[in-house]
Amino acid sequence: MNERAAERVADTVKVVGLGVSPGIAQGPAYLLDRSQPKIHKYSLQSHNVDAEVERFERAIEESRLQLQDIRERLARDFGTEHLYIIDSHILLLQDELLITNTIATIRQMEINAEWALKRSIEHFQTIFSSFDDDYLRARRADLQYLGNRVLRNLMGQGIERMAADGEPVVIIAHDLSPDDTIQLTRERVLGFATEVGGHTSHTAIMARSLEIPAVVGVHDLLRTVHTGDFLIIDGQDGTLLVNPTAEQQAEYQAKRQQYLLHEEELLTLTELPSVTLDGHRLRLDGNIETPEEIASLRVHGAEGIGLYRTEYLCMNRNGFPSEEEQYLVYQEVARRIAPNKVVFRTFDLGGDKFLSLPPEHPAIRGSMGLRAIRLCLRNQAMFKSQLRAVLRASSKENVRLLYPLITSVDEVLASQALLEEARAELRQEGQSFDEHLEVGLMIETPAAAGIADLLAKEVDFFSIGTNDLIQYAMAIDRTNDEVAGYYDPLHPYVLRCIQDVVRKAQEGGIWVGVCGEMAADAESIPLLIGMGVHELSVNPVAIPHVKQIIRALSRKHCEELTQQALSLGSATAVRHLVKETLASLFDCGE
Ligand code: PEP
Ligand code: MG
Repeated sequence: MNERAAERVADTVKVVGLGVSPGIAQGPAYLLDRSQPKIHKYSLQSHNVDAEVERFERAIEESRLQLQDIRERLARDFGTEHLYIIDSHILLLQDELLITNTIATIRQMEINAEWALKRSIEHFQTIFSSFDDDYLRARRADLQYLGNRVLRNLMGQGIERMAADGEPVVIIAHDLSPDDTIQLTRERVLGFATEVGGHTSHTAIMARSLEIPAVVGVHDLLRTVHTGDFLIIDGQDGTLLVNPTAEQQAEYQAKRQQYLLHEEELLTLTELPSVTLDGHRLRLDGNIETPEEIASLRVHGAEGIGLYRTEYLCMNRNGFPSEEEQYLVYQEVARRIAPNKVVFRTFDLGGDKFLSLPPEHPAIRGSMGLRAIRLCLRNQAMFKSQLRAVLRASSKENVRLLYPLITSVDEVLASQALLEEARAELRQEGQSFDEHLEVGLMIETPAAAGIADLLAKEVDFFSIGTNDLIQYAMAIDRTNDEVAGYYDPLHPYVLRCIQDVVRKAQEGGIWVGVCGEMAADAESIPLLIGMGVHELSVNPVAIPHVKQIIRALSRKHCEELTQQALSLGSATAVRHLVKETLASLFDCGE
C-alpha cells in the first residue's frame, strides 16, 4: 500500500503521495482554490442599499475584465478553439435577468449583494435543471462557475488563475479536471500536486503526456502548502518537500540533472526498431489525445498511434463536435502519421472523462455509469456522426476504429450496424473511405475478457485497456487515492485474464495490443511479450523506456518467465521474479 506520511524537519515538511509523472520540479507553490466561497447573510440599513447595488455592479465589471483577460491569454497561447466557453461566460455576465433579479433582491429584502446573488443563481439553476435539454442543463454548471467568480470578487478574495504569466509555479489543488490540465504548459507550470487521483486517472495520464512532474493523492495538501511556499516535487517516488533546506535543494537539483541525462540517453533509441534480442518484432505505438502530440510521438520514436482518445475533442464545450469538425481533426492526424496507422477510439465519455455534459448528470457520473459505448449507443445520431467522420478520414487506408468499454456481443453488433449505415450513406453520397477499415474493441471489462472467444469473431483486433480492466477486476475506482494501492497489474488474476484474452485472440485469428498504463510498466513488459501480445501502445514519453526493455530481452526467455510468473500466487512474488530478471539486464535494476 501506498505510504503517506508528514514529518516536520525544522521548517521543512515532507509529505508523500503517489508519484504519477516522473521528473523533479522545484519552485514556488501556487494554490488553485476550487472551494465554494462561504456566504453570510446580513441586513442593510436603508441608506446603504444604493452603495450595495454599486458594489455588486463593480464586482460584475471586475469579473468581466478578468474573463476578458483569460480570453486574451487563451487566444494567444492556444488559438481560438476553446474560446467559446469563455465567451459563453461573458455573455452570462451580461444576462439582464440575473443582474436585475439580484439588484431587485438587494433592494426589496435590503440584504447584502453576496446573499442576493446566491439566491438568484440558485433560482436560475433550478429553472435550467428542469429542462430536458443537455445544452440548458450545462448552463447550470456555467452559472455556478461564474457565480463563484462574482462572489469572490464581491468578497475581495483572489480568483484562481491557472499558470499566471510571470514566474513559473508548482500548482497545488484539491483536484484538476481534464479541462484544467490542458491549460498547463511546461513553461508556466513546473509541476503539480493534488489531494486526489490515482496512477491511471486522466489528470495523471495528461501530466505524463505533457511531461510535467506530478504527485497525486497527497492528504491534507491544501492545509500543508500555502501559495509562495518553496516546493520540491519528485514525480517518481511521490515526495513533496515544503520549504526544503539548501542541502535538500542541492540534492534534488543533482537528482534532476541525472534524470534529464538519463532521458536524453534514452532518446538515442528513437531510430532503433522495437525488436527483442531473438528478432521478435513488437509494434510500439503511442497513446495521444490531441494532434499536437504527434510531434512528441516522432521525438520519442513511436511507430503509429495505438490509441487516439477522441473524447478530448469534447473538452471545454457544451455538446458534441460536429461531423465536419471531427473529420478535419481525424484526417489531419491520419495524414500526419501516414503511412503508419492510427487507431481512433470512439468517444469514451463518462466516469472521470466526463467532459462536456453537466456534471450533475447522475447516469453518467462514476465509472460504473452510462460511460463510453453505452452513452454512444444512447445517442445514435451523435455516434453515427463520429463513425462517418472516422470513415471519411480513412481514405489513406491507415485508419483503424476502436470501440471502448464493450461488455457484450450485442453492443458490438449494434455499433457495427450503425457503422454499416454510415458506410451506406457515404457510398450514396459518393464519399471515399477505406472499405477494409479494421475495427477493434477494447477488452477493459471482465465481461469482455470472459467472452473474448465470442467477441473475436466480430472484430479485427483487440486492444486491452488495463486501466479499466484492473479497475473493474479489483473493484477500485481509478480516481480514488484511498484505493490506489490496490491497483496492481501483476495480480495473478490480471495476468491470467490477459493471457486468456491473448490466447483467444490468437485462436480467433486476430491481433491483440495492450494500451493501458500497464504496457509501460517495466515489470509487466516481459510478461506481455511472453504472452504473445502483438503491440504495446503507451504514453509517447514512455516509448524510449519501453523500447530499451524490449531490446534487452529475448522472447523465448520472456515466455519461460511468464510461465513461471503464472504459477506464482501473489503479485509480490511475481514482481520479485521479474525484478530479478530486469536487474540482471540493467545495472540500475530497472
Ligand atoms: C484503459 O482503460 O486502459 C485505456 C487505455 O483507456 P482509458 O485510460 O482512456 O480509459
Ligand atoms: Mg479505458
